[in-house]
Amino acid sequence: MNKHLEQLVKLSKFDKDIVGFEPQIKGQNDKLKVFLKTVDELNEKINKLYVEIDDSKNKRIKNDIHLKELADRIKEINTKYDSVKNEKEAKALQLEEEIAKEQIAFANNEIVRLDEISSSKEKILEELKIELKQEETDVEELKNSISANIEELESKREVVYKEKSELVEKIDGKVLSFYEKIKRWAGNSAVAPIKNQACYGCHMKLTNRAYSDFLVTEEIFTCPHCGRIIYKEENQE
Ligand SMILES: [Zn+2]
Repeated sequence: MNKHLEQLVKLSKFDKDIVGFEPQIKGQNDKLKVFLKTVDELNEKINKLYVEIDDSKNKRIKNDIHLKELADRIKEINTKYDSVKNEKEAKALQLEEEIAKEQIAFANNEIVRLDEISSSKEKILEELKIELKQEETDVEELKNSISANIEELESKREVVYKEKSELVEKIDGKVLSFYEKIKRWAGNSAVAPIKNQACYGCHMKLTNRAYSDFLVTEEIFTCPHCGRIIYKEENQE
């Protein structure tokens, strides 16, 4: 292969590799984001549960206070029974006592219901706390492995950069600017291999005439269809 062409094939590969590092680094950061999002969601659920448990406990306290008041009222009613003068007064007292007893029954049911809510939410809360702790440990481990991976990718990229700049130094100025010109529109496929007589940049087949010219030339050859620099892959017959 022509020496200039050989350099351009290498250069194009370096350029491709350099571009390839960015999505790999981003992929690592995205992985971490997924885990951090889970931690956030768990924290949110836990905070919501704390508020809800607090709310049902406050309601229970109110019911407790109400029960005490009702017990006092029953006592009061009972003392009044001794001084009842007629049946009408007795009936009124009885009615008052019945209402108080109904309210006591209702408050007791409420307390049972609120306690059940609190205890079931507390159970969920404990489970979520365990889950959160595990998730936080995972995040910590992941952070370490991700930053190690990113560091490794960055140092590999550094090596490719260095190799590329060493290569660029050696490339003839005219050849390099020819490559850069094509690269401006073709991006990282500025140099494309020919496989089965077709250009792998534009996927068009070379005519037999163009192909035989291409096979014998010692010069840098461009695809007659798209203008990319083309080369014959070494391992191809
Ligand atoms: Zn082409």
